[in-house]
Amino acid sequence: MEPLLSINGLKTHFFTSEGVVRSVDGVDLTIRRGETLGVVGESGCGKSVTALSVMRLIPSPGRIVEGAIIFKNSDLAKVPEKEMRDIRGNEIAMIFQDPMTSLNPVYTIGMQIAETIRLHKGFDKKKGIQRAVELLRQVGIPRAEQIVDEYPHRLSGGMRQRVMIAMAMACDPKLLIADEPTTALDVTIQAQILDLMRALKKEHGTSILMITHDLGVVAEMCDRVVVMYGGKVVEQADVETLFEHPAHPYTRGLLQSIPSLEEEKEWLDSIPGNVPIPSEMPEGCKFAPRCPHAMDRCHIEEPPLYELAGGQKSRCFLAAGEGTLCRMSY
Ligand code: SF4
Repeated sequence: MEPLLSINGLKTHFFTSEGVVRSVDGVDLTIRRGETLGVVGESGCGKSVTALSVMRLIPSPGRIVEGAIIFKNSDLAKVPEKEMRDIRGNEIAMIFQDPMTSLNPVYTIGMQIAETIRLHKGFDKKKGIQRAVELLRQVGIPRAEQIVDEYPHRLSGGMRQRVMIAMAMACDPKLLIADEPTTALDVTIQAQILDLMRALKKEHGTSILMITHDLGVVAEMCDRVVVMYGGKVVEQADVETLFEHPAHPYTRGLLQSIPSLEEEKEWLDSIPGNVPIPSEMPEGCKFAPRCPHAMDRCHIEEPPLYELAGGQKSRCFLAAGEGTLCRMSY
């Protein structure tokens, strides 16, 4: 599949009074046309800042300091803000964990969708509202012609997320970035929202960048997965390989912390320690303080991203294995 978006050597840093916080520190990844790419990791690993960098919505005092974000032959890290405003919504749309952060509480649902359509497609208000009703129907909202006149607070969390998806899909974007879209929802609603995203992807051929800490969502939704830790990609693989043959000790730790129906465990394994604070990153491998396999060199040298078989990559010295593939048994 052809790449739709390529991120090359992206560094997004925050310049605070306490020093430079390297939230994203040299990320490379590619999203192909029509695929769902999962970006996984604990809070603070840099996954959301990577997504916000693509949208050029990094809050102050952060900024992209290096790297390129290539989308349709343009480098989004460098295009003028006016061009970026056109790309946002029209070509790349984003949905967040909490829809209330994006929905305006003082405007009706219909007005907000119609305004998005007016801005990007030039429809007048009446046509915009008609299109809003169609979109709400497409995302499975009952009584869509009445819901357009409702305010966001009158809807449930699941309904609000459907509205956000309708708004995101209003201009038929090529790429949908979903940042923890189901984290705040209960399990049944979560399944419905994931089904809806799958259906929209199938119907429109939209690529999805799925930011999540939930490996269950990854297993259900993604074709390929990128695992992030300490602002860097530490593993990349297709979804089957990642679950069956994780190559990086961090990925292995994440997988061991998922409850399993087959294996009865009194306690779930967890990864010891905490994600390092970005301003206090350790030398060498960023995962070394928590890694059960850490060697002396891990605390001094930073491992490169080793290429393994089948496109899998791992940022761990164990993956080098004297030139042979050294996947960890799991
Ligand atoms: Fe663990 Fe060393 Fe591999 Fe880092 S490089 S993940 S510390 S074994």
